Amino acid sequence: MADTGDKSLIERGILLTTVERMVRWGQKSSIWPATFGLACCAIEMMSVTGSRYDIARFGSEAFRASPRQADLMIVAGRVSQKMAPVLRTVWEQMPEPKWVIAMGACASSGGVFDNYAVIQGVDHIVPVDVYVPGCPPTPEALLFGILKLREKIASGGKPKYLEVTENRRG
Ligand code: SF4
Repeated sequence: MADTGDKSLIERGILLTTVERMVRWGQKSSIWPATFGLACCAIEMMSVTGSRYDIARFGSEAFRASPRQADLMIVAGRVSQKMAPVLRTVWEQMPEPKWVIAMGACASSGGVFDNYAVIQGVDHIVPVDVYVPGCPPTPEALLFGILKLREKIASGGKPKYLEVTENRRG
């Protein structure tokens, strides 16, 4: 391998980056989900913390009991009309920047529950960054969704709620 200038810097223990990139690296490497499950999809969500799927590889095993310590809401299951204001309150209590994954057909679009009692897509309640398809999605699918979210954060993508706010202003 050619002895480039970068290589010799690394050999000397020096890394060059920007504060912005370093912050983004920290954010994508420590996404903490809120402990929040609504229906059958939540069982698949819980399984990603086990040794078989090992979400700890991505720094996201710390499901927080308080929304104040979480920056990711995984909406795992159908959202009833009754639950919608509670979900919105939990989301509002999360510090910024915060992210939302709609996990499964029910959270994304109401799924098979095409009726008055179920919200036909959680994006009616909170802005969604990543949709994970399936009924239920496999744990691998949820991990893929989290990897997509990490890519979005690393590339400087804004949370969906900021995009929505800016579009309204513009
Ligand atoms: S998408 Fe399927 S598995 Fe998930 S909450 Fe709906 S019915 Fe249950």
